[in-house]
Amino acid sequence: MNKKSIRDIPQAELKGKRVLVRVDFNVPLDENGKITDDIRIVRSLPTIRYLIENGARVILVSHLGRPKGKVKKELKMDPVAKRLGELIGKPVLKVDECIGEKAEQAVKQLGEGDLLLLENIRFYPQEEQNDPDFAKALARLADLYVNDAFATAHRAHASTEGVAKFLPAYAGFLMEKELEILGEKLNTPARPFLAILGGAKVSSKIGVIRKLLEKVNALLIGGGMSYTFIKVQGYEVGKSLLEESMLEEAKKILETAEEKGVELVLPDDFVVASEGAEGVPTQIVDWNKIPPNMAGFDIGPKTIDKFGKYIAEAKTIFWNGPLGLFEVDTFSRGTVEIARKVAQSQAVSIVGGGDTAAAIKKAGVEDAVTHISTGGGASLEFVEGRVLPGVAALLDK
Ligand code: ADP
Ligand code: MG
Repeated sequence: MNKKSIRDIPQAELKGKRVLVRVDFNVPLDENGKITDDIRIVRSLPTIRYLIENGARVILVSHLGRPKGKVKKELKMDPVAKRLGELIGKPVLKVDECIGEKAEQAVKQLGEGDLLLLENIRFYPQEEQNDPDFAKALARLADLYVNDAFATAHRAHASTEGVAKFLPAYAGFLMEKELEILGEKLNTPARPFLAILGGAKVSSKIGVIRKLLEKVNALLIGGGMSYTFIKVQGYEVGKSLLEESMLEEAKKILETAEEKGVELVLPDDFVVASEGAEGVPTQIVDWNKIPPNMAGFDIGPKTIDKFGKYIAEAKTIFWNGPLGLFEVDTFSRGTVEIARKVAQSQAVSIVGGGDTAAAIKKAGVEDAVTHISTGGGASLEFVEGRVLPGVAALLDK
């Protein structure tokens, strides 16, 4: 990696230092404000532990939900501080602001190895505006800055980018891992390199598809986006998802794949139904025989087998986008079976995308894939080869 991480700071130099850490504690909450999944907190523990073990005074900051620049009681960080305290086995001080008198006082109270969590940074409109004065005020709290929030690295906000202009800035362990895996493993992949793409829309994945076509040996396409590719070849897709505006683009992608010698593989069959609801009657039809009054909501058994053969032979797999309407059990089989096959394969398997990560979880195979990226949008932008502002702002090696 060409960016410095906390590994590059001599350990002795951390002792007593005030370290501001941008973490991703944007956890899902239920109606009662209870944390329903703490994986994001868990994933930031290695960085936090390392800093406290080395005697740093750790100041954590994150956003939570979308308060849009206003204080929203239900999005305060207190439950997160409590959960973090339980996970790390140590009290976590919490303060109701991010900059100002109270925050400064709270930082002064920190002893070596102590932890402070600031308030939801998106309570301040200056955060998303990347206001330099705000970033500077934040920077005044600390001696060093660590960014471990890969999932927000594609946003140039005060706590992800602005603040790095005023403090020496390093990647945390999670950020470092994401950059290494999504960067190096996908840029110098063991071959065959297979990409599996799905999800609802071609338009949201166009950059990723183009980039992957330069790198992969084969590209499997399923999910809602596959119908646009079928339509452009002159076949009807019934009521399936279709992006008319992407037909030209789909044609170009097919041509590029051909030119580059990339195998672009589309489904052989689909599970169709008149609506995408739980328990509705379904039918399995060949890819070019979708009835006019029905929509494809999942890949069929022939496709699962065919995709499985590619997965079994691959040495590197990148997967983004569910292969059907997986949230509805009636249509989750294709995605779940493919998740299992990816998990069983010997390949380095890397999963990106929020919904795809949820699908992997639904299949119960989180522990059997090599890496599930914590970044939804960020991982896709990174794979596209775009510069992530939160990464660019870190110190070069
Ligand atoms: P990710 O978040 O992993 O990047 P996307 O957001 O691109 O994935 O796509 C996920 C969505 O696509 C899911 O909500 C899924 O239900 C939907 N989807 C996939 N295939 C179909 C389909 N055939 N018909 C309708 N929706 C689909
Ligand atoms: Mg999504």
